[in-house]
Amino acid sequence: MLDSIMSKLNILAEGAKYDISCSSSGSSRKQIKGGLGNAKMCGICHSFTSDGRCISLLKTLMSNDCSFDCLYCGCRRSNDIERASFTPKEICELTVNFYKRNYIEGLFLSSAVEKNPEYTMQKLVDTVIMLRKDYNFNGYIHLKGIPSAPYELILKGAAHADRMSFNIELPSEQSLKLLAPQKNKDGIVRPMQSLAQIYIGQGRKKVLIPAGQTTQMIIGASPESDGQIIRLTQALYNNYRLKRVYYSSYIPVNTGNSLLPQQKSNLIREHRLYQADWLLRFYGFSAQELIAQGENFSEEFDPKCWWAIKNYHNFPVEINKAPLEMLLRVPGIGAVSAYKIVNARKFAVLDFEDLKKMRVTLKRAQHFITCKGKFIGVNTSETAVKGALLYGGDRAKQLSFFDNDTAVSVISGQL
Ligand code: SF4
Repeated sequence: MLDSIMSKLNILAEGAKYDISCSSSGSSRKQIKGGLGNAKMCGICHSFTSDGRCISLLKTLMSNDCSFDCLYCGCRRSNDIERASFTPKEICELTVNFYKRNYIEGLFLSSAVEKNPEYTMQKLVDTVIMLRKDYNFNGYIHLKGIPSAPYELILKGAAHADRMSFNIELPSEQSLKLLAPQKNKDGIVRPMQSLAQIYIGQGRKKVLIPAGQTTQMIIGASPESDGQIIRLTQALYNNYRLKRVYYSSYIPVNTGNSLLPQQKSNLIREHRLYQADWLLRFYGFSAQELIAQGENFSEEFDPKCWWAIKNYHNFPVEINKAPLEMLLRVPGIGAVSAYKIVNARKFAVLDFEDLKKMRVTLKRAQHFITCKGKFIGVNTSETAVKGALLYGGDRAKQLSFFDNDTAVSVISGQL
């Protein structure tokens, strides 16, 4: 029996690997008497290998036997691949066995659309209920929602999961119609909207999905610009209270379709979107300030640096006087340093040495600030600042983390 489960797991864990919407959760729950496991505040990651090495989440599909035919997906109906489906009991057995062996701390459970959305969602919900009630599993569960599944089922899932996610996948309705014809915007967005209304749970006895909801977008399978994508991200955070939006660079798993790029997309693009996302959430930027609707982010400069270069007329700012909102916009001053500066200057007038101690990246910040009225950067023009940032004496650059074929040098350091 275990052998057959393990062979299914080989197939279904492979199918789940492209879903990245399940990293650290923020959910925290202690072990309870008679229960098994707990959910930790951080460190819940999303990798799993079938040889059982210690990776925090068991990440698998319930089934890869999809009735849908999304053009970009390896599990699509028209692909000739080995198909497999777990039963709810098999998932429970696997989860508990792996948990007891200390391989995992929780479960990330997704699925292809087996038969139809209702059938699949019912199986997912049956699984998490069985895991919670029959197996007393108190560990972390991230449950994937199936678009267009009935609301009652989604709600039941939310009552037993720590986190739920419905994947947007494609950043526009038009691309969804073209590349994922059985899906529709309403079927994805409506459940997100409903979860946004229920999950916060303040004042409720039982908090539904305490780790909130997330989503994922594929970058580069369709023609949407970074400007469109980051506006969509902003709307998702504002309207549906998402915890995270994840960006996944397109990888061509199905070749030969003229509607899809034949090359994987550039990882630097994904990286820039994550940086911009960070600026929306922690630095007070709006999508509109960062980039025009039809544009893509610069490969050379991170989005904050690019914004500062374009708005160079607003700089330099005096570190001892500038409001927090402006400090947050200085390249090289991260959010933590900005708050430290605001606190420290209540007691002393700060100079460049103080900033270094606060871990400000002066190599970059120096072009945008003064300390006690003194300026040490390059201030002749926007072009000179660009040059200084890219090719300055300190060469404030780092090598790319990415594959050689997409490798580019990027400015790094604090945003
Ligand atoms: S619904 Fe689409 S993306 Fe999801 S598994 Fe099926 S074919 Fe793949």
